[in-house]
Amino acid sequence: MTNQLEAGLNEHFGFSTFRGPQKEIIKSILDANDTFVIMPTGGGKSLCYQLPALIADGTAIVISPLIALMKNQVDQVRAMQEDERIAHVLNSTLTQKQAKEVKEDISTGRCKIVYIAPETLVKEETIEFFHSVNLSFVAVDEAHCISEWGHDFRPEYRKIKSTIQKIGKNIPIIGLTATATPKVREDVIKNLGMEKPNVFVSSFLRDNLFYEVRPKGSKENVLKQIVQFINNRKGQSGVIYCLSRKSTEETAELLQANGINAAAYHAGLESGMRPKVQDGFLMDDIDVICATIAFGMGIDKPDVRYVIHLDIPKSIENYYQETGRAGRDGIESSCLAFFSHKDINKLEKFLKDKPIAEKEIAGQHLEEMASYAESAACRRKFLLHYFGEEYTVPDGGCGHCDNCKNPKEQINVKEEATLALNVVQELLENHTIPYLVDFLTGRATQQIKMYKHDANALFGKGKEKDKNFWNSIFRNLLLEGLLKKDIEKYGVILFTEKGKNYLQKPTDFKIALFHDFSDVEDVSFESTNVALDDELKDLLVQLRKKIAKKHQLQPTIIFLENSINDMATYYPITEEEMAKNVTGVSLSKAKKYGKEFIDLIKNYVEENDISRPTDFVMKSAESSSKNKIKISQQIDKQFSFDEIASNLNISRSEFLEELETIVGSGTKLNIDYFFEQEMEDDILEDIMEYFSEAETLDLQIALEELEPEGYTEEEIELVRLKYYNDNAN
Ligand code: ADP
Ligand code: MG
Ligand code: ZN
Repeated sequence: MTNQLEAGLNEHFGFSTFRGPQKEIIKSILDANDTFVIMPTGGGKSLCYQLPALIADGTAIVISPLIALMKNQVDQVRAMQEDERIAHVLNSTLTQKQAKEVKEDISTGRCKIVYIAPETLVKEETIEFFHSVNLSFVAVDEAHCISEWGHDFRPEYRKIKSTIQKIGKNIPIIGLTATATPKVREDVIKNLGMEKPNVFVSSFLRDNLFYEVRPKGSKENVLKQIVQFINNRKGQSGVIYCLSRKSTEETAELLQANGINAAAYHAGLESGMRPKVQDGFLMDDIDVICATIAFGMGIDKPDVRYVIHLDIPKSIENYYQETGRAGRDGIESSCLAFFSHKDINKLEKFLKDKPIAEKEIAGQHLEEMASYAESAACRRKFLLHYFGEEYTVPDGGCGHCDNCKNPKEQINVKEEATLALNVVQELLENHTIPYLVDFLTGRATQQIKMYKHDANALFGKGKEKDKNFWNSIFRNLLLEGLLKKDIEKYGVILFTEKGKNYLQKPTDFKIALFHDFSDVEDVSFESTNVALDDELKDLLVQLRKKIAKKHQLQPTIIFLENSINDMATYYPITEEEMAKNVTGVSLSKAKKYGKEFIDLIKNYVEENDISRPTDFVMKSAESSSKNKIKISQQIDKQFSFDEIASNLNISRSEFLEELETIVGSGTKLNIDYFFEQEMEDDILEDIMEYFSEAETLDLQIALEELEPEGYTEEEIELVRLKYYNDNAN
């Protein structure tokens, strides 16, 4: 049988060896044992039921929560098989005729694997049908959905067990999940009614992932950090997770404005857009996806080099699954999360109206997430501990987290740890961390008064130290296994054997206190020297005047005030740098007027021995037109302005504003056709003449001069645009 399995693997999937415990799992299910598989994202769970389904007698039922994902998986199976009808989906998206065909293929044994949504499974007619056919086993993918202690609870998953019983076939069940804390594990086994299952737990250690958490300051600062992070990884694939749809779009726009190939992805995209974005990402046409969690479930791109969390996720399970999408190919990849305590408060607010039980669980998930972010302990250890694995940090750190790379100072808290343990004992292992911290710091809350604990001798014994300190103590006692949390009982803190032993004979206990993310300041950018150089600015202004005279143009046509300021700040010394870092200058504009300015700056930098900022300039999304590409394309086709505005679904005045933005950022547009078609030659010439002689292009002044002569505001604005476009770009 052993070689048979390898042959099957090769024949049906084209792989030569099994990964991790795959083979043992497949054997277990073929031997008709109930089987439970816990394997991290990307580990290869699908194959564990797909291969036995193809080999075994009868049809395998695969229960999977997402219809979109089913389709994807069926396509993958079909791709390797001669007979397309070997795999099917059975769900609400099928027509009656299609559903009938699927059932026929199952009855005749032609279909070996059928994906089904739990909602469809529990229907009477489905149960009757399955009762009448030959089945091999039932696979429950994403099995954590069955537990309300997981992060993705689906009530209909609770009915799976009774449904399988009704089908009445005594066939084995295999449950699979990527995220299962010990509590969820128990729940799944119980709720699926598995009998003495073979349990396969793969390590959750992802040894090629680097974990980092940064404080989340102002939005602008965070986005700047992200742009810089991505610029250091040019051309690599990455995913940025955001909590809201709006935020995915804003982020994508901002990245685009900074020359990064990004797209937004969320469940609200117009139909047709989603597969387009997914495919673009898979084909490397799009480097960065800014996504809500809707993205990624069905995505299997092996070379995602980084996952960024712009907003902190709602649970560590979510976080681990999302970061798990990085580096599936085993190559070093990064996971960067931004955190501020405000975000947790925001998420807590969303929970306000939920039923108590749900609020309780979600609240605990948030608390764990916050404590992960704030912890100064090894992140790898923290994560593995969360999923029930022990990890000993080697001397010198794990090499894969920020806390090990830049360790915080450790302090010996033997005395305080002992006090904390004594308090747990004194209060009869009946309270949660926030309660214990209040007790130690002497905050007589209502609850504490209710228990009359404010009269206890230990009350307020730790008030010399603050909340963060005691929080750090308890968290580290958990992490080191001296205490444990009873999640079923609202997160009450209990002793472990190890904790009891420690209290008998306390030893040194070294910890680093939590990071303080309550009041974060912006991360300053090192090596940034971004002050306006007044002396250089004067020189540049003089030069601009000289050149303007030579061309007989207004100085602002040569370079805008903003552009001069940027030059005197960032010292561009090539045309490319100028185009990249200076507002209002495109590469073609840099080529047109830039040379003498660059020469001047180069000399100035050399003579004054200036170290130029290595930092980059972040361009805001507003300073670039969202519709730039569409507009230039339609202008090239010489569409009328009204047509273009209506194609873009914007008003004519919004359209003219966008035109000004595009032209003002240094791009030349071929708009002459418009004036030929829509403006009398005389009017055009008159207003052009005014601008070529005017001291300034100021619109207000132009209106005052020209309106009394009967020219309309729009005519004046349009010609001014043309004048700028003709001469500046
Ligand atoms: P998950 O555990 O997240 O459900 P998948 O089943 O989607 O993971 O598998 C992840 C990737 O690993 C897929 O691209 C799959 O083809 C690949 N894979 C699975 N098993 C093997 C194997 N034995 N050899 C090579 N690649 C494999
Ligand atoms: Mg999977
Ligand atoms: Zn570490």
